[in-house]
Amino acid sequence: MTAGGLFALIVVAIVLQVGIAALVAFVRHWRVYVELKGRVSNGVTEAAPPVRQPAPQTPAAWSDYRPFRVRSKAFEDRARSVCSFVLEPADGGAVPNFLPGQFLTFRLNISGQATPTVRCYSLSDRSGGDAYRVSIKRAPAPDGHPDIPSGLSSNHFHDHVREGDILEVKAPSGRFLLDPKGPGPVVLVAGGIGVTPMVSMAAACLHENPGREVWFFYGVRDGAEEVFAAPLREWAARHPCFHLHVCHSRPAADEVEGRDYHHCGYVDIALLRRVLPLKSFDFYVCGPRAMMESLVPALLEWGVPTTRVHYEAFGPASLPRLDTPPAPEPAASAQPLSVTFAGSGRQVVWTGGSLLDLAEANGIAVDSGCRAGGCGMCQTRVEEGEVDYEHSPDFDPEPGTCLLCVGRPRTNLVLGM
Ligand SMILES: Cc1cc2nc3c(=O)[nH]c(=O)nc-3n(C[C@H](O)[C@H](O)[C@H](O)COP(=O)(O)OP(=O)(O)OC[C@H]3O[C@@H](n4cnc5c(N)ncnc54)[C@H](O)[C@@H]3O)c2cc1C
Repeated sequence: MTAGGLFALIVVAIVLQVGIAALVAFVRHWRVYVELKGRVSNGVTEAAPPVRQPAPQTPAAWSDYRPFRVRSKAFEDRARSVCSFVLEPADGGAVPNFLPGQFLTFRLNISGQATPTVRCYSLSDRSGGDAYRVSIKRAPAPDGHPDIPSGLSSNHFHDHVREGDILEVKAPSGRFLLDPKGPGPVVLVAGGIGVTPMVSMAAACLHENPGREVWFFYGVRDGAEEVFAAPLREWAARHPCFHLHVCHSRPAADEVEGRDYHHCGYVDIALLRRVLPLKSFDFYVCGPRAMMESLVPALLEWGVPTTRVHYEAFGPASLPRLDTPPAPEPAASAQPLSVTFAGSGRQVVWTGGSLLDLAEANGIAVDSGCRAGGCGMCQTRVEEGEVDYEHSPDFDPEPGTCLLCVGRPRTNLVLGM
């Protein structure tokens, strides 16, 4: 072949490669476009495909709070910052099943607090045993602010809750769920303490559907902070379908990649794209805000349909739900909306933010738990007016009520509190 012919061949090969890459990128973007197009058409928002699975149709296993005894308490990490609490019913009754991903809501009487403290903790084991398990990370004061009190509930659990103690617990709830019997392969992505629901999901899959492909990505700072290190590694050794990828963002000096952890750095989209085979996965993501805010949009950008991206943030998350456009802030020119708290007789003007923020900013005490529309603690009667949601809540408020933590006024409001 002549030099000219060889040159032409190389040019054709390069053009072909570039063309194929452009085609693949186009197809990916087209899929995202089609996905989003289904959600908004002619400026009118249509019913969106749910981002999460539908709410479980199972009624709450019990109503209100039920007493549970702490059967045992054990640390799950070498840093001793995450402690598991195994809870058995103090009334001797049954332990109803739950779906992996659900959480328990606790009402705690903490010394020095005028009102009970309500917090949610994910179930961290699979269903079907004679007890529940939650695993709680001690929340320290923010870095550089020793003047700010450390986390109320988590420190109370670590320092004061002992074996034999009785705790008030609401039934398992939440919509961040995985059907363990589902057929398709799943990718579980956990960051930090977001590992708790993921371990429950993995345990349920391995137990109920051992042939199911499970990819488990877990990001922590170093080995000392790894939670459930032993069971995760044991599952990876025993189950060929369970693929474990532990990432250390700041490995300790004596840690070796390949021996103590799988990858150095964060769990990010580049890692997922590098490691995962080309398949139609369902993704479940739970981790710190930074991880969620980068990874969830990146999965969609990669071409994963919104219906296959499931996520949960612990606490108030800025990540908007993908299925519902955020409720608009009030336009500068719009008539200001008033909110009346009937119980205290206070009427205030809404200037943006949630009804819970508004109540607290005006010195009105509200029972609240997750602050993210998940636990239902702040459900409040609406006596007059209508409420919008900044994102559709996980907890379905009863008719005639609203959830303050994710609610905003659509009209002037009178709330029965
Ligand atoms: C659905 C769901 C599931 C969850 N599952 C788990 C789980 O499995 N495990 C787990 O550990 N957690 C989980 N959480 C989080 C948990 O509910 C609590 O939010 C967490 O334990 C912190 O609560 P706390 O009472 O200890 O801290 P808080 O008292 O709520 O304080 C939180 C942080 O704010 C700081 N702080 C306090 N006051 C101020 C102030 N004035 N200014 C600035 N900062 C301040 C504290 O120092 C602390 O760092 C979950 C949350 C949800 C919503």
